[in-house]
Amino acid sequence: MSLSFKKIVDLAVPMTHMNTPVYPGYPQPLRTTFSTVRDNGYESYVWTFVEHVSTHVDAPVHMVAGGATVDKMPLSHYIGNGVVLDFSKKAKRFQIKKADVEKAISSTGHSKEIGKGWIVLFHVNYTAKNTAADWLEHPDITKEAAEYLVSLGIEAVGIDAPGPDHPPFEAHKAFLPKQVVIFENLNNLDQLVGEDFLFVGTPIALAGGTAGITRPVALVR
Ligand SMILES: [Zn+2]
Repeated sequence: MSLSFKKIVDLAVPMTHMNTPVYPGYPQPLRTTFSTVRDNGYESYVWTFVEHVSTHVDAPVHMVAGGATVDKMPLSHYIGNGVVLDFSKKAKRFQIKKADVEKAISSTGHSKEIGKGWIVLFHVNYTAKNTAADWLEHPDITKEAAEYLVSLGIEAVGIDAPGPDHPPFEAHKAFLPKQVVIFENLNNLDQLVGEDFLFVGTPIALAGGTAGITRPVALVR
């Protein structure tokens, strides 16, 4: 097995004390000091944060009562062949339909392979706007497009926006009951358009968690 890659791309946004873009109504992450080098010889902090902050992955239990928690999903849903579908030039609130996804997949040249073992990432370029007034005006993956992706047998989806949809969260409700986990607030997807890469997005193993923060990386082949 070869472990050589052309480059490693960091797909996370940092989680910053009291200064992280959060979904409306969600609390800011907090960091307090537990111990300092000066007092005890070692430095250590206590962080308090909501599960759905910064770059994270939603587990089925987020929208499915009794669904799988983030620590219980097989790791194959977090690590897989990655592909980026480029919707970065679309108007705000663009509705990504099944036909749009089919066309985008076929333009990647992977239409025969995308399915089990694959993680499909949507580049809409809204993480770049996460301090702007229109951060929440990102495109939606429609219900039929989400159902189409589920039918392919993929492991996960991701997006560089706070989420793949708006209330009533039809994409979430199509993906999560079918064990397709959702990576949100991804970053730097512009660097992966047209690339072949391994996506590694293993989250923190919060026992019983509805999501887990993660620092995904793309290992570009
Ligand atoms: Zn979430």
